[in-house]
Amino acid sequence: MGTPKNVVIVGGVAGGASAAARLRRLDETANIVLLERGDHVSFANCGLPYLIGGEIEERDELLIQTPAALKRRFRLDVRVRHEALSIDRTKRLVRVKDLDKSEEYDLPYDALVLSPGAAAWVPPFPGHDLPGVRTLRNLKDMDAIKAAVDGRPAGRALLLGAGFIGLEMAEALRHKGWEVLLADKAAQVLAPADPDMAIYVQRALAANGVVTLLNADLKGIAAVGGRLEADFGGRSESVDLALVAIGVRPEASLARSAGLALGASGGIRVDPNMRTDDPAIYAVGDAVEVTMPVTGRQGLAPLAGPANRQGRIAAENICGIPSTYGGTYGTAIVRVFDTTFALTGATEKSLKSAGRIFSKIYLHPSHHAGYYPGAEQMHLKVLFDPNSGELLGAQAAGPAGVDKRMDVLATALKARMSVRDLAELELSYAPPFGSAKDPVNFAGFIATNVLDGRMGLASPEDFAAPQPGQLLLDVRTPSEFAEGSIPGSINIPVDALRSRIGELPREKELLVTCRVGLRGYIATRILDQAGYKTRNLSGGWLTWEAWTEARKDI
Ligand code: FAD
Repeated sequence: MGTPKNVVIVGGVAGGASAAARLRRLDETANIVLLERGDHVSFANCGLPYLIGGEIEERDELLIQTPAALKRRFRLDVRVRHEALSIDRTKRLVRVKDLDKSEEYDLPYDALVLSPGAAAWVPPFPGHDLPGVRTLRNLKDMDAIKAAVDGRPAGRALLLGAGFIGLEMAEALRHKGWEVLLADKAAQVLAPADPDMAIYVQRALAANGVVTLLNADLKGIAAVGGRLEADFGGRSESVDLALVAIGVRPEASLARSAGLALGASGGIRVDPNMRTDDPAIYAVGDAVEVTMPVTGRQGLAPLAGPANRQGRIAAENICGIPSTYGGTYGTAIVRVFDTTFALTGATEKSLKSAGRIFSKIYLHPSHHAGYYPGAEQMHLKVLFDPNSGELLGAQAAGPAGVDKRMDVLATALKARMSVRDLAELELSYAPPFGSAKDPVNFAGFIATNVLDGRMGLASPEDFAAPQPGQLLLDVRTPSEFAEGSIPGSINIPVDALRSRIGELPREKELLVTCRVGLRGYIATRILDQAGYKTRNLSGGWLTWEAWTEARKDI
């Protein structure tokens, strides 16, 4: 047995604590020092909004581990309120400051793991540093927000940024009876999603009294008479609390000053073993740049699951066990009141910007058998390669069953399945849980029909700008048609199609629609076999409505 290894880990929460625990399980002899500049290690930052909203009642529930417990179980030398100041890569020393004693010292390492996370990004707008303008990243931030919210009658809050944290905080503050104004500079909420899917989140916000302000250009915030006055250039909003949640920036300053390579995104560059360009230094979590396997692009994906897994991988490599990270698919989920939204892999936006060709299908199935009480409609968008059928990404929204479908799709994505495989998946079923043909199977059926040329695919874009040689045909019932239809479409219900087929011009391509896409598909089968050229609007009227509604703010 050689000399015990000295391992220093910077950052004691998701990635850092995972790396430390895995290291100890693999190597009983290593000297493992975990440095954390904050007051706590291994706390549940993902739980912070739920404590503010009151769903989690006890603050202690968020403290998953204490330094003492980590010492007892894993013999870790945990040093909270100790900040890593700099790295001397030649001598393999970390310069550390004990923040309580204001003393500095050097810590030697054989292997160093950086898991410093990310910092909430606050642009330097006038008033960004006012006391009432807050961010939410750690327990200290949470305590300050909770004190501001609980210590007074319900007021009015401005949430800047309609991303995951902004959405969770909107819900938390509404639970507390606050008025919420959710502002985003984009034309949609939840920027990682496609607008035609994010619209379901926007509807949930509106239904629950959250006012959204899109295309919002914040000029500054001023303190006026004990309140905050937010200036959106011609529109002024008076609030009691402002939270900036517009995204995070990797905490890469330690790595940068040590001369480690950073990527174009500002994240620390690592190889698949989570090693930086210095073989003795590993980096994990929100601070690193990752590969997005579907597009092959590099980028930031600040998520807890990847941080934890990367910490584990770094530890394995330090212990001589070859272990590689396969990239981040960006699988994420958020609850917005009674609506859940989840996504995995690439979106239509990211595929377009990567210049990758794709097909998209939409479906609106029930989350379990329709005849069993409580069936809820969900909305699913699936993207795939039109030639190989490879699954590229998925997004889903709905009151129930979204998490389960997204996790199946995320697994299929990681396994590089084709959408044909989705049709084959044998998923657990009884009426309270699903359908004999699960929404994921259905996505597979539809996509397979498209791949095999049994259903021509039309998109909302096609219906919005029909060409002279095309006719829009709506096959719903006359009463459904009367309630609302795509401009320019004619109505022949699917059940009357065989008898009225002569009314349709043979020289035109028929773009067919119904309510969700199923009757439209049946209609195209009838028409195709009668010699017509057809395409069906995937997702039908419900997709059209979502797509057009999402474009209102653009
Ligand atoms: P962190 O967990 O942030 O840990 C980094 C630690 O390093 C910090 O405690 C910091 O103090 C310390 N540090 C930094 N520099 C130094 C230094 N020089 N010396 C010593 N210590 C240092 N992700 C999800 O997947 N799902 C969710 O639902 C979710 N919800 C979230 C909700 C909130 C409010 C927040 C803030 C984040 C949420 N996340 C969620 C993101 C998730 O928490 C992060 O992706 C994850 O914690 C990243 O782990 P990390 O180890 O890279 O960084």
